[in-house]
Amino acid sequence: RAKEEGKNQYRFYDNTFNLDAQETMDIKNSLLRAIEQDEFFVYYQPQIEVNTGKIVGLEALIRWYHPKRGLIPPNSFIQIAEDTGLIVPIGERVLQIVCAQSKAWRQAGISPIRIAVNLSVRQFSQQDLARRIRRILDDNQLEPHDIELEITENMAMKDDMQASLQELKDMGFTISIDDFGTQYSSLGYLKRLPIHKIKIDRSFVIGISRDRKDEAIIMAMLNIADRLNLTVIAEGVETAEQLTFLQDNNCHEIQGFIFYKPLPADQIETLLIQQE
Ligand code: C2E
Ligand code: MG
Ligand code: MG
Ligand code: MG
Repeated sequence: RAKEEGKNQYRFYDNTFNLDAQETMDIKNSLLRAIEQDEFFVYYQPQIEVNTGKIVGLEALIRWYHPKRGLIPPNSFIQIAEDTGLIVPIGERVLQIVCAQSKAWRQAGISPIRIAVNLSVRQFSQQDLARRIRRILDDNQLEPHDIELEITENMAMKDDMQASLQELKDMGFTISIDDFGTQYSSLGYLKRLPIHKIKIDRSFVIGISRDRKDEAIIMAMLNIADRLNLTVIAEGVETAEQLTFLQDNNCHEIQGFIFYKPLPADQIETLLIQQE
């Protein structure tokens, strides 16, 4: 399946920013049908703690299994889901799937593991987001500390979102900043905002041992995070050189193909059982 993902399965949706009105409409209708037919599911990518080598968390990554077109990766539909507002029910579905999975693993006797869920700006701006999330957790007897919420910098920067962010933090969720360093934002928000963790974007990791500027930026991120007591995870780590550099500079956690690709729940379960 991983192979299909990179190939021609989603050619139709490949350039979502170049679509005309008709194409956007078609995708919107497919997404509506996908919600009704329950065509979304979730892969999980392990997050490894550098000091122990253990899996300490998972990131939930949505997948769409289209009956005709096969597996469609998120970059081919998330933008349209956001533009049409459909990301709200889709995002809620992801959270339901994740919480039900977490409950099932617990019932199978597997130690609780933190699962990170990506939140879109459209979800984040809902007035009752905290209550909606709380209800899904309650349905599955989970607590906020079981779940990490990933948001992006420009979401965190919006003044009207800071209250919801604080509310979620007060409830006990871990909050992380995804794709850290890639958007227009000021570092000042690190001081103001209730966050626990930053995720160094793959675009910087790629430059390790190739571009001194990327290395300098990563070291600066690790340094500031250390001073502010934030956890740091590096995303998209693929090579031994990248891993060594991050280890040497005291990055806490690693998420990348060098350890695991995103995997379906049954394969994750096997890994978790092995590690018990
Ligand atoms: P993201 O949240 O930054 O997720 C990390 C992406 O990097 C994932 O792509 C993951 O498969 C990929 N990745 C991880 N390690 C490596 C590596 O070593 N090499 C390479 N080349 N790639 C790596 P994926 O699953 O295709 O997701 C893409 C984006 O779609 C995510 O980026 C996130 O922004 C969005 N997304 C995924 N699931 C959801 C969801 O449930 N809700 C929302 N709102 N967005 C989602
Ligand atoms: Mg993410
Ligand atoms: Mg990211
Ligand atoms: Mg991203």
